[in-house]
Amino acid sequence: MEHKRALLGKTLAGLEQVAAELSMPGFAARQLAGWLYRRRVADIGGMSNLSAAHRAMLAERYDVGVRPFSAAQESKDGAQKYLFAVGGEKRAYVESVLIPEAGRATLCLSSQAGCPMGCKFCMTARMGFRHNLTSGEIINQIFGVPRSGQLTNLVFMGMGEPMSNIDSLLESLEVITAPWGMGWSPARVTVSTVGVLPALRRFLDESRCHLAVSLHSPFADERRALMPVQKAFPAEDVVALIRRYRWTGQRRVSFEYILFDGLNDTPRHAAALARLLGGFECRVNLIRFHRIPGSELRGSPPQAMERFKEMLLQRGLLTTIRASRGEDILAACGMLSAGAELPGGAS
Ligand code: SF4
Repeated sequence: MEHKRALLGKTLAGLEQVAAELSMPGFAARQLAGWLYRRRVADIGGMSNLSAAHRAMLAERYDVGVRPFSAAQESKDGAQKYLFAVGGEKRAYVESVLIPEAGRATLCLSSQAGCPMGCKFCMTARMGFRHNLTSGEIINQIFGVPRSGQLTNLVFMGMGEPMSNIDSLLESLEVITAPWGMGWSPARVTVSTVGVLPALRRFLDESRCHLAVSLHSPFADERRALMPVQKAFPAEDVVALIRRYRWTGQRRVSFEYILFDGLNDTPRHAAALARLLGGFECRVNLIRFHRIPGSELRGSPPQAMERFKEMLLQRGLLTTIRASRGEDILAACGMLSAGAELPGGAS
């Protein structure tokens, strides 16, 4: 049972509250942030520029809050999947995927245990919703993987819909990008969403990180069959909102498009996609579908993916086929399902 509250994940404002609660001087909040996010101290006792009395008071109520991963798996292609316990006493699990490449290392983060969005092509959806991660639980995935200091990119494309957990998302992004925090450039962080509009507007206004939008069909009825979110937040409205913002080299938007055989990979789809996304700076990432048990959906063959890419390029859309990693350990796009890792499966 955990009695102490974690410091990890707190913003500067949150650390100022901690300092005030313990009658520490105002500047102690920045000292705490330095120890947590720059020097990555393992325990409060190591915060040597705080007085012994303050360290003792702090340690009575708080701990640093870095928790080790519970299990790890490595794919034959080098991708690594880590399982983290979250949710305190009402224990749930999330997965994070580390993707090493030449000259870079990307960590795919989870924002929720399970997911309420019900996308038909996604294993996480089958878990249902379990828990909204705190900012600390999001940051802990970064601190908890081996060689964390060598990470170059972060993508919120793991379990959950980040915009459905917008407060924790924005807090964690502040910690990651603030000069008093981890000091990362927002250009190294991408947040993926199915398009939950009110929260998306907050993300666009309050963060400078890149955006990725899961689209998967330009047609409302077809998209609704794949993604129930289309009913509440139609893709046309999502794209209309995104068009109001400035997309330059500094901040990018991409549209993610899983290709399903015969379902959304025809010339008619390419033409409609070009109409929906034409006239502003964006890119389309085509993604191979990884088959999931009990689903009749089938991925487009590689030649059909190439053909679809060419159709979009000819219509002026910057398009790439995203490399797929970690399929053999169920770590690829749409395959995360932490319950499968646990004895007896998901509860
Ligand atoms: S694809 Fe993303 S938003 Fe949709 S159910 Fe899976 S985790 Fe949730």
